[in-house]
Amino acid sequence: MSKNHQAIPKKGRGIPLHWKIIIGMILGIIFGVVMSQIDGGKSFTINWVKPWGSIFINLLKLIAIPLILASLLKGISDLKDISKFKKIGGRSILIYIGTTIVAITIGLLAVNIIEPGGGVGQETIDTMIENYSNNPDIAKKFAAADSQSKSGPLSFIENMIPSNIFGAMSENGNMLQVIFFVIFFGISLLLIPDEKAKPIKDFFDALNEVVLKMVDLIMLSAPVAVFALMAAVVVSSEDPEILWALIQYTGTVALGLLLMIVFYLFLVGFFVKKNPIWFLKELSPAQLLAFTTSSSAATLPVTMERVEEHIGVEKEVSSFVLPVGATINMDGTSLYQGVAAVFIAQALGVDLDFMDQITIVLTALMASIGSAAVPGAGMVMLIIVLQAIGKFEPEQIGIGLALIFAVDRPLDMLRTTVNVTGDATVSMIVAKSLGKLGKPKVKNWDDHPEHL
Ligand code: ASP
Repeated sequence: MSKNHQAIPKKGRGIPLHWKIIIGMILGIIFGVVMSQIDGGKSFTINWVKPWGSIFINLLKLIAIPLILASLLKGISDLKDISKFKKIGGRSILIYIGTTIVAITIGLLAVNIIEPGGGVGQETIDTMIENYSNNPDIAKKFAAADSQSKSGPLSFIENMIPSNIFGAMSENGNMLQVIFFVIFFGISLLLIPDEKAKPIKDFFDALNEVVLKMVDLIMLSAPVAVFALMAAVVVSSEDPEILWALIQYTGTVALGLLLMIVFYLFLVGFFVKKNPIWFLKELSPAQLLAFTTSSSAATLPVTMERVEEHIGVEKEVSSFVLPVGATINMDGTSLYQGVAAVFIAQALGVDLDFMDQITIVLTALMASIGSAAVPGAGMVMLIIVLQAIGKFEPEQIGIGLALIFAVDRPLDMLRTTVNVTGDATVSMIVAKSLGKLGKPKVKNWDDHPEHL
């Protein structure tokens, strides 16, 4: 830190970022509720307020690929030898699978004990079917599930290898392809003489700093953006009566997700030996964004910034574990799939035995790996889970989706928060196990006021 920069007072540091975001969210909810009551309020919010939220999400997505490129390349080139990379990769994938199995088990236990499906009357089922039977969004989810389940057993690996890197980078959905390319490139970089590798390393090092600064700048608008996003969610939400009819189901998913957060905090306390409350506080801006955007992919740049700069995970670990986690580790989504599948079976009177529940565990685990980190992806994979059980007629699956569709958005917000928290927790565990959990090194957007 230069003297110069300490001497100049920094503006706007008074209220911590997470509080500013929470205030933005609360005001957005209030604004949305008021606008829902006013004539024309809904269209005003959609036309004039929501775009500010969408711009913010676009900005985050805009820097996701450059950030993965720069950060992962720097991470790998800092490793010095490849064997360490194997350790990071192997450990994180194993822990990811472990936490996902815990999540699905919590979901299945909660739904079997609480039995929310038992409380759904025929009348509710009929209303939901009427409301959603011709819903084009449900039809879209079926089409997406159809194309996913048609792919062959090795297609997951096949799809990971791009034939054109610019093609892969031009699609935010192809994150794993970009990660594959960068790992391949980074390992090759380690294998050439240091003096030849240096310019490339320096370039990506600088790029990484720049992109992280872009995250800081984008985050300045986070409180306003979450205001816009929450207002849009509230004005587009369902009639409270429908939400109330599904309260037991929503409550079961929410309880399961809460238990999952408690499990993460336990891991942070016992395995990482860090204060869980401190962890929550440092990660909270990323969690709040996951909640408002319902997309772990859009949240990724902020998750990376928080985990590296505010929690102290070294780049060698975070630059691999977090982007991979955003794509393949979705504990909240798989927990939700367990609850939703059993809930639908309970409501429609389909009997599920122990083996069916094991099928749910396995398919929800695969689904968590295959789900895109975007809003509503969990519901697409739920269709595949329901089909794998083999006890539902195709129209029963449609009825099942119709039944839970109304509450998908709020549950998506909650499960995305858990997805992001899970990725951050695993990155801490892997970092701790490899001695790569250091001191936080917070950087702010105006650390160099001499340029302002
Ligand atoms: N929206 C979730 C995510 O991005 C995926 C899902 O559960 O629908 O993490």
